[in-house]
Amino acid sequence: MRIFIDGQRIPVATRATKDLLLMLKNMAKMLNWGIYYDTAREAVYINSKSSVQPLPPPDRQVPDEILESTRLLNKTIVIDAGHGGVDAGATGPTGIKEKDNTLAIGLLLRDKLERNGALVIMTRETDTEVAPPNSSSTEELEARVDIANEASADIFISIHNDAFTSNAASGTTTYHYGDTESTKLATYVQHSLTEELGTKDRGSRFASFYIIRYTDMPAILVEVAFISNPEEEMLLASVDGRFKAAESIFLGIVKYFKV
Ligand SMILES: [Zn+2]
Repeated sequence: MRIFIDGQRIPVATRATKDLLLMLKNMAKMLNWGIYYDTAREAVYINSKSSVQPLPPPDRQVPDEILESTRLLNKTIVIDAGHGGVDAGATGPTGIKEKDNTLAIGLLLRDKLERNGALVIMTRETDTEVAPPNSSSTEELEARVDIANEASADIFISIHNDAFTSNAASGTTTYHYGDTESTKLATYVQHSLTEELGTKDRGSRFASFYIIRYTDMPAILVEVAFISNPEEEMLLASVDGRFKAAESIFLGIVKYFKV
């Protein structure tokens, strides 16, 4: 992570952990400075005045092609990073957007699954809608479901962040559509997430969401944590929080396939 104060990069090399982000946020608040965290560029901009500094070009991520194991070989897994493009999803107290968190976690999960031999299809790999422009919200969901059904995927994982009017609400929930296989997958992923993230266990629950209802394969929708909760917003935006989320969804999937 890079830290800029009034446009000047400070010479520290550190990871964007939740604790560090919370510390910087509290410091900026105390000094009445502006703070902006660009999750895509992993850069924190702190401004002593309200001046807006120009953003540096984004870093390219180096792909990791090392195969760890072949235990997920022959499994096709569709990952749906919730929202995207004109639909930001929910927004946290400091302005972090759900669509950025879901994509970051989704891409980390993809890498982890691919390193273990799975064929992974993302409904989106960039900040974009999946359906053609000006589609309705149902058509947008339909486009995502179609990708999974046309690929005859083995499982479907939709990643989201929860939000509520009260910022006190917190925790992790995994939704399924009630069939045995989806329920089993949800239970494993939910258990793994709450254990790894240390979040409140809101349970694996039935829901009739379009995206898990019309997918032909075992399908779950994961609400990783509450973006409306100030602490969980930082968990979702941090490198370690996203990594842990991806890692635990991966472990739940491995457990589901018993490989
Ligand atoms: Zn969402």
